Amino acid sequence: MRATASLEELLDHFAFNRFNCPYVFVVVRDHLDERPPGGPPINGGVNNGGGVIQLGRQKLTEDRRFQSPLRHELGHGFGLVHPNLYGESLSDSDSVMSYNESHFTNRFREALRIPRLSCEDIRALVANDRVFQDLNATAVEELCGNIGNRKKLKTLPPMRKLGGMGYEVRVTADVNSEYETQASNVVLTSILPDFASDTPDEIWFDSNSMWQSTQVSNGWITLNIEFPLPTPLDQINIYSRHSGEYHAVTSAHVLRNSGASYEQVCSESNLKPTQS
Ligand SMILES: [Zn+2]
Repeated sequence: MRATASLEELLDHFAFNRFNCPYVFVVVRDHLDERPPGGPPINGGVNNGGGVIQLGRQKLTEDRRFQSPLRHELGHGFGLVHPNLYGESLSDSDSVMSYNESHFTNRFREALRIPRLSCEDIRALVANDRVFQDLNATAVEELCGNIGNRKKLKTLPPMRKLGGMGYEVRVTADVNSEYETQASNVVLTSILPDFASDTPDEIWFDSNSMWQSTQVSNGWITLNIEFPLPTPLDQINIYSRHSGEYHAVTSAHVLRNSGASYEQVCSESNLKPTQS
């Protein structure tokens, strides 16, 4: 049985969907083949919610070190990535997300070296509010120190299809894009500055996380944002003025599509740029 099939059953049982599920499920299965256990997060990205881990039952009795892959996969389930993505050694890093052999357990005996959570691991867990609502930034401050030294968080991809529910928030625009940007960048990306850069204090133009439309004569562009399930609207933050200088948004209308027609939700025609 695929991980998605087990997960669909579990979500159903606990009355969650992929977006509000706060659990990482550990599924112990009979006759799972000998591949190493897998543990993908459900949604990927930052604040990704839960995940699912599949483990062969035989591993529990036949593999003396089963505890170490279990905690490593739990990390993946919570959305953590391998340390080499942060420039650390995959074989020597202290992180539980490495392949460091001195982290191997022996049945119920602890490893030679107890693995740790790296600064990036902790930041990623703190960012996952859907699972860890009570974690705050204090641990991050203590462990990671100066904000300028922080690396940009890396994430795992989402499970694409689950119970017929897709993942993507679909974004289309009524104008073309420029500078190799995509309209879909207006959602689900993090805002630069990138703390791993040489000049972490400066904001610059980044085609992977920003969107620039072609010039329009009347100054208005329309974005259609389509969610995969009914989504409450709490607030909208509009980030504009790339590099802190260009193309500030001064007016916005928000409309909700209800069947065939659109109805106005809110309208603001005197937006003041703020520096934050
Ligand atoms: Zn791994």
